Amino acid sequence: MQRGASTLGDGGIVEAEVAVIGSGPLGIVVALELGRAGHQVVLVESGQRRPDPRIQELSDLVGDDRYHVAMDLAVRRQLGGTSNTWGGRCVPFDPVDFDSRPWSTGAWPIAYEEVAPYFQRACDWCVCGQAVFSAHDLPELAGHSLIEGLNDGHVLSSDLERWSLPTNFRLVYGDELGRAPSVDLITGLTCTRITLAPDGSAVDHLVCRSAFNTSVRVKAGIYVVATGGLEATRLLFASNDRRPQGIGNHSGHLGRWYMAHMQTRAARLCLARPEDEVSYDHERDRDGVYVRRRFTFSRDWQHRHNLANAAIWLVNPELADPGHGSAVLSMVYLLLRSPAGSRLIAEGIRRDHLRSAVAPRLGPHLRNIATGIGPAARFALAFGYGRYLRRGRKVPGFFVRSTSSRYLLMYHGEHLSHRESFVAPTSQLDALGMPRLRTHLHFSQADIDNAKRGLTHLDEYLREQNVGWLELRDSDIDSFIRRSLYGTGGYHQTGTTRMSEDPDDGVVTRDLAVHGFGDLYIASTSTFPSSSQANPTFTGIAFAVRLADHIRHLLGGGKS
Ligand SMILES: Cc1cc2nc3c(=O)[nH]c(=O)nc-3n(C[C@H](O)[C@H](O)[C@H](O)COP(=O)(O)OP(=O)(O)OC[C@H]3O[C@@H](n4cnc5c(N)ncnc54)[C@H](O)[C@@H]3O)c2cc1C
Repeated sequence: MQRGASTLGDGGIVEAEVAVIGSGPLGIVVALELGRAGHQVVLVESGQRRPDPRIQELSDLVGDDRYHVAMDLAVRRQLGGTSNTWGGRCVPFDPVDFDSRPWSTGAWPIAYEEVAPYFQRACDWCVCGQAVFSAHDLPELAGHSLIEGLNDGHVLSSDLERWSLPTNFRLVYGDELGRAPSVDLITGLTCTRITLAPDGSAVDHLVCRSAFNTSVRVKAGIYVVATGGLEATRLLFASNDRRPQGIGNHSGHLGRWYMAHMQTRAARLCLARPEDEVSYDHERDRDGVYVRRRFTFSRDWQHRHNLANAAIWLVNPELADPGHGSAVLSMVYLLLRSPAGSRLIAEGIRRDHLRSAVAPRLGPHLRNIATGIGPAARFALAFGYGRYLRRGRKVPGFFVRSTSSRYLLMYHGEHLSHRESFVAPTSQLDALGMPRLRTHLHFSQADIDNAKRGLTHLDEYLREQNVGWLELRDSDIDSFIRRSLYGTGGYHQTGTTRMSEDPDDGVVTRDLAVHGFGDLYIASTSTFPSSSQANPTFTGIAFAVRLADHIRHLLGGGKS
């Protein structure tokens, strides 16, 4: 059932077997996995079904971290959380991420083989088909490669990303949440503090407040914080009455090791033979799910070269630069710049598409459109239908075949975990009295060197295979890469409640319980000790499913 916080009396108590805080993808998965098994769950959500600027504003940051975006671009405080705006790219973390790597400070206390069995259930939640992430394992895709004649070696080009609908968890699971007899969904209620029992070893209750100043207590046997990476960290910091440094900060790791991703479009791929076929666009598997090929580096090669994990894929040229000569790209550029632009895609993605070193000039874009009006109109009809009008699965994006045999590349790599990369509470309070966070994302020279080495390895491999080479876009490549990182952090929030074997090394256990607690769990990508090449939500959902199984096991009973 669903009820609004305004229906609760001030000072009331809500009770359940399990309390889940936050109804983003991870919170919904934990709540429904348990609810479907018959356990009584209360799901406390700060937002409503519709966006509300007063609630969204609760997440605002303090300070001016040049690498970080504003929180209204990075998270959505609404039923369904940030899945209301996410892109839907589903990629699992790789075995190498879980390996011991002497140069990495992000050691996982759990093996890949313990997480991989949950990938199919994560696919089911994300509606992204089979948990198959290599073109070799899909007969319908196995017959060709990313570039004609290119074989897998220490560089692979058969690894796939999958795309969900994109699944908006509010739209897909909202009705079930509202109807489920065992799930008590309370919207418009923000958890502002986790209050511990007098001896500090267990949770006594949650303090929750609504925007209408109703204050209630939530009591349960088990508590799951699923408020998103930064908000989970913030709630633990704010819960400091019995633990002055915050819950889970016993060894000083809470808020540390904040990671994003290394993202740069620093290089172009040049084809050796213009006539070679390139799988630059999305393909569909036999279930109709959109997938896309990318370059990755083999596990063995990464170990041998102490190389951070990375994926590299083909992207369109910068839209803003009319030098691309494409009517379609110029048309999209002008649409995204127009007042309608922010209605077409998530604002963060729109701004990313408009980023360019080139000054905006209208005339050349109009000339591009005039010379290719036919193809541009056909594209607008086909893409507009597939992306916005068709029911169900949407086209994730579009790619234009290069007429110059050169393709811009996106390097999307692991951001190393650095102790000096952190989030911390400040003395500024939000409207409900919670301390606001400031962020300090740190990218080291080693991060930049990893990106350069990854691009160099790819260049050498393409040359060896005689299919092409890379050209760098700037002679001062270090500065170019660093500039590309400005304003990219905050979308993927990892590291700040890291999991560890030893309580001295982290915040939560391999089972996501806060060290020293048997009743308090964190379901968030912030528990990941390293950031991988992969966007984190899919693996976060796999961990959420695993956590729900763990809690079911603890509680026993319920429907199987
Ligand atoms: C534009 C954009 C595109 C993205 N694209 C991708 C992508 O393609 N692939 C990918 O893997 N990831 C992507 N992401 C990231 C992805 O959206 C997040 O990783 C994911 O939503 C995290 O899920 P979550 O459930 O942990 O947190 P969220 O989705 O952030 O949900 C947290 C929920 O908790 C609620 N909440 C917060 N604090 C409290 C509180 N104190 N009390 C009660 N409720 C609270 C919030 O209102 C929210 O509903 C994208 C993000 C953005 C912004």
